[in-house]
Amino acid sequence: MKKPKRLTTEFGMPVDDDLNSMTAGPQGPVLTQDVHLIEKLAHFDRERIPERVVHAKGAGAHGYFEVTHDVTRHTRAKFLSEIGKRTEVFVRFSTVGGEKGSADSERDPRGFAVKFYTEEGNYDMVGNNTPVFFIRDPLKFPDFIHTQKRDPATNLKNADMFWDFLSLTPESIHQVTILFSDRGTPRTYRHMNGYSSHTFMWYNTDGEHFWVQLHFKTEQGIQNFTGEEADRMRGTDPDCATRDLHEDIARGEYPSWRLQVQIMTPEEAQDYRFDPFDITKVWPHADYPPMDVGRLVLNRNPENYFAEVEQAAFSPGNFVPGIGPSPDKMLQGRLFSYHDTHRHRLGPNYHLLPINAPKAAPMESYQRDGAMRSDDNGGSQPNYWPNSFGGPSPDPGLAPPSIDVSGMAARHAYVLGDVDFVQAGDLYRKVLSDEDREHLVANIVSHLGGAQRRIQLRQTALFYKADAEYGERVARGLKLESAEVERLAKMTQEQRVQATATQ
Ligand code: NDP
Repeated sequence: MKKPKRLTTEFGMPVDDDLNSMTAGPQGPVLTQDVHLIEKLAHFDRERIPERVVHAKGAGAHGYFEVTHDVTRHTRAKFLSEIGKRTEVFVRFSTVGGEKGSADSERDPRGFAVKFYTEEGNYDMVGNNTPVFFIRDPLKFPDFIHTQKRDPATNLKNADMFWDFLSLTPESIHQVTILFSDRGTPRTYRHMNGYSSHTFMWYNTDGEHFWVQLHFKTEQGIQNFTGEEADRMRGTDPDCATRDLHEDIARGEYPSWRLQVQIMTPEEAQDYRFDPFDITKVWPHADYPPMDVGRLVLNRNPENYFAEVEQAAFSPGNFVPGIGPSPDKMLQGRLFSYHDTHRHRLGPNYHLLPINAPKAAPMESYQRDGAMRSDDNGGSQPNYWPNSFGGPSPDPGLAPPSIDVSGMAARHAYVLGDVDFVQAGDLYRKVLSDEDREHLVANIVSHLGGAQRRIQLRQTALFYKADAEYGERVARGLKLESAEVERLAKMTQEQRVQATATQ
């Protein structure tokens, strides 16, 4: 066996005894001059950093992305420039609403975040296992998350809060339908897809741009828990997905996903039949068939969870030349919020942590100082731009294409309408099997059944608007009058809210 290293303090002083505190006599008291004891306790007192406000429970792995198809017509991103090219990645999967110790099998969307360490800097794809989202305006995000977490008075989950908000937010119907299908309880992180959900911009070396949506398709196949299995798993193995990912990779069975992309031209986006930047909608495959790009493989477990998974910080604002944002309002909110939350959680120099620092590109910025600046802080290089002392300079050749935007500055509401119900209805009618529909209705009934009757009515009317049979089946399960649900479904949202305002 290798001789163990000598134990030291944090500053390298050898430690002579790590079992007995220094005391005045065998009975104590303990002496403050025991600097080793003080250091050990003081560091322990500070071990916890703020939990992520969303996506707190997660698991991660290292791997690579390999290009399998030529996409250079659509993007100049160097890591996508050649078939066969490989880029190192780190991926973090997560649940959304639960705390750091919550169960992996909870009904919840799953985070699917990929950090590509490219030669042009880090590109992050911070997606979910669902192609849509509950809301499409970032102003609603804190409220939405509050309703998915705990009641401020009781600290318990509260079905009234959950469904009150959703039933007052009809654009959520598509995501609610996916969430309460068995896709809301994936069996493992390996058996689910990942989606960018947002629309992004790709642009090529000629300055042409395209709107794109990304789909990571699992090569393990989709596998989900039924509601009952997921409930059981909460008790028997709350860390089932974390365990599965680790054990699978340790066995050498490396999970993989195929990256596909849907591409829309700016001209098509102008008069598409719905807003292509609305994250509550998918682009139907028939209109925009997914095209192959490459393959993602996870083949290495982290050696230290805190260093590599807890401190990993992803942001949809981490782009590389060839990839940029779209006007999607929800995305615009996230471009601010992710970096902001990491500055709070990890500090202003979180980009220097090894898991977050670029690996294949130099980092040459004029940002200096700040808490825990742990590199050479730019050394003796100039700390301002412009300068004539050889400091790093911008490269105008990499400017993204200009986009024409115009309009009145105002708080513009989406023009609500029945279009919000079409895709949820299509999913129910055309995509789900009989068994899927049965599970969907049962999952909804068991959860919505915990809310007040007036909220049940308001929400069931939304299911009815997506599809009459869908609404009727939920109404039957909740023992609501079908005729009353139908009457509410035929009202405008304002009338419906009025009609269900009080018990
Ligand atoms: P398609 O028939 O071409 O595609 C349906 C897609 O639905 C499938 O390819 C699959 O996507 C996904 N799917 C299959 N089973 C389920 C399920 N149980 N729960 C959720 N999604 C499932 O039709 P459209 O493209 O016109 O879409 C119809 C509906 O399918 C949409 O309204 C949306 O609800 C859903 N959907 C569409 C996606 C898209 O990007 N167009 C993506 C995912 C869902 P996948 O291979 O990605 O699993």
